[in-house]
Amino acid sequence: MHYCRRCLLPDTKPHIAFDAEGVCTACRAHEKKNAAIGGIDWAARAAEFEKLIEEARAAKAPLFDVLVPVSGGKDSITQIHRVLGRGLRILAVNVDYGMKTAIGQENLAVIPRMGATLFQATPDHTLHRELVRLGYEDFGDPDLLSHTLLHALPLHVGMRFSVPLVLLGENSAFEYGGDADIADNNSMTRAWFDRYAANAGHDARFVSRQYGIPFDRLRLYDFPDELPGSGTKAVFSSHFFHWDSEAHLEIATRYGFKPLDKPAEGTFRTYVGIDEKIHRIHQYFKVLKFGYGRATDHACEDIRNGRLTREQGKELVRQHDLLPLSEHFKTDFCGFTGLSRARFDAVIERYRNPAIWSRDNNGRWFIPGHLVDAAPARQSA
Ligand SMILES: [Zn+2]
Repeated sequence: MHYCRRCLLPDTKPHIAFDAEGVCTACRAHEKKNAAIGGIDWAARAAEFEKLIEEARAAKAPLFDVLVPVSGGKDSITQIHRVLGRGLRILAVNVDYGMKTAIGQENLAVIPRMGATLFQATPDHTLHRELVRLGYEDFGDPDLLSHTLLHALPLHVGMRFSVPLVLLGENSAFEYGGDADIADNNSMTRAWFDRYAANAGHDARFVSRQYGIPFDRLRLYDFPDELPGSGTKAVFSSHFFHWDSEAHLEIATRYGFKPLDKPAEGTFRTYVGIDEKIHRIHQYFKVLKFGYGRATDHACEDIRNGRLTREQGKELVRQHDLLPLSEHFKTDFCGFTGLSRARFDAVIERYRNPAIWSRDNNGRWFIPGHLVDAAPARQSA
């Protein structure tokens, strides 16, 4: 594995690329956000946002002026904060698969108290459990279609309710390193959805074909192609406001958002990805497949923002990133999907990437060259 010269992202990360200096696309995107060195003009972006708000107000929609998809995390509370205090009718839409944590429920309850109407959509469990199970077993991704549902459902709702503006969170193509043509586009499109919500073409259409599930049952899991030209515009908030986890935490805390008492397993942060039990399993697959996990993501963000040195980041990654999955995550997951524990264990090991992992003489798994800066990184696949 090769690591970015500036942060700690490895070249095994999907969609990432390194330039001739061995610096990753996520670090280069971060430079672009710095107005002081000729990057994004945030004042101009804020003015663009005000214009969108005025257009939404002028549309005189029947029920709501703006829709914000929410998980109940610090980022979603921050998105609500961005549109508060303007007399807008705000609709917050949450998708609850049925595996929400207690603290996730508590934080979600903050949203109506802020001044938004909260819709919670719980997908048909007879279908959703099956999708989680097949994603887990056949693709090493229990969220295979959960992510597409999470992105698509609020768009369907926004369109059907004629809400003029949907305010999405971050454009991950830009923030975490992705294709330049998609990264610079500020609206949610089919191209973005196919690349960043769906996992490598394994979307609702694919699952429908492959598993004989009628596509009509999966519509909420797919991008609504009627969206462009429907009068509902879906834009990424990170285009208008500097996306920064620490700043979001500060804003969300003011409204009553609560973090965990101690860091979530697999990272050193207490306030990220804490609302869904399944999140840890999804992240653990990343460790098996690509050799890095949440601590790397979080350390990289802190390194770019000057809150950690690269060496301090490495130390935190060493402590947290490759920790094995705790029993209670497995028990909860098996309870939800109906998988046996033996089956769970057999499946998960199949996804450990032999090109990344080795076993020592005692049979323990390790990653040769973990966090070692080798020869200058080259353009990755
Ligand atoms: Zn980097």
